[in-house]
Amino acid sequence: MTGGSGFLGSHLCERLLKEGHEVVCLDNFFTGSRANVEHLLDHHRFELMRHDVTEPLTMEVDDVYHLACPASPIHYQRNPVRTIRTAVEGTLNMLDLAREAKARILIASTSEVYGDPIEHPQHESYWGNVNPIGPRACYDEGKRCAEALAVSYARQYSVEVRIARIFNTYGPRMHENDGRVVSNFVVQALRNEPITVYGEGQQTRSFCFATDLIEGFIRLMASPHGADPVNLGNPRETTVLELAEITRKLAKSKSEIVRAPLPTDDPTRRRPDISRAQQLLGGWAPVVSLEQGIAATIDDFRRRLGV
Ligand code: NAD
Ligand code: UDP
Repeated sequence: MTGGSGFLGSHLCERLLKEGHEVVCLDNFFTGSRANVEHLLDHHRFELMRHDVTEPLTMEVDDVYHLACPASPIHYQRNPVRTIRTAVEGTLNMLDLAREAKARILIASTSEVYGDPIEHPQHESYWGNVNPIGPRACYDEGKRCAEALAVSYARQYSVEVRIARIFNTYGPRMHENDGRVVSNFVVQALRNEPITVYGEGQQTRSFCFATDLIEGFIRLMASPHGADPVNLGNPRETTVLELAEITRKLAKSKSEIVRAPLPTDDPTRRRPDISRAQQLLGGWAPVVSLEQGIAATIDDFRRRLGV
């Protein structure tokens, strides 16, 4: 697994070990940390390796989960060239590894391939509306290129490819400085600091709890279905302002909700059509409600922040 010591990667490592697999976790620790997998270090089937996916690698493996890439706008925009290198060269290297090892590879793509979508909700057949030169382009176009590479390896070299288009996913173990909306709001609410809603807060996202997403990953990797992308996310759509209110209430916080500038090219709405996932992945659908998921995330942050 690449990016295995990040937020989603650490949950996936845990799940794969529970299922009896041997897991090699590669990470350059850019946004991930050893702390996320500290509890797995003594496990006899777990191995942690510092490796940057922009460097080639060969290894005997059966499956590759390719998650390495900063995912939060503040992190992926800090060094946009590096982000493109990670998304493009990193995916190329991991596809070469899969090809050589005759392994199946699952690519962690994103709903950002739809950009600021004109079609709503987003079905996999929608080609997207991405600004190719805006501040989000390094990530969005990097991931679009990663998808193009993956389907090309499938067509040209018969590599067994799976593509997950992940919609906003949150949960325990997100970094307190991750910068994405759920972790920001939870940290702010727990510290009784102002909750920063960007713009009017009427933009929407659809928030999926980590364990639901991981279940989708496992089923997608196991499915006989080929390289066509599959949306994985929770179809419940929420405005950012609603999310702020839910978080404040569940954290029993005294925070006020304040407005901050809306970032450039911030997508106005986002909701997955998950009919393909339901059909191909044995009826897969998220089971954790937003309220349950936010409450669990609050508990985790409360413990870690000691508040
Ligand atoms: P994260 O930032 O917590 O994890 C990314 C991991 O990749 C980190 O451990 C980081 O250190 C590692 N990494 C970054 N660049 C690397 C490189 N060049 N070489 C090796 N390791 C590198 O983010 P996450 O939320 O866990 O996201 C995991 C994957 O899922 C990413 O590919 C992301 O684009 C994708 N994704 C996540 C979401 C979401 O909402 N969480 C949504 C869409 C897509
Ligand atoms: N957002 C916000 N306050 C924050 C962080 C984010 O209002 O402190 C908004 C952001 O403008 C966007 C939404 O929340 O509309 C989701 O942002 P995030 O960075 O989590 O993910 P993405 O924009 O990549 O979906």
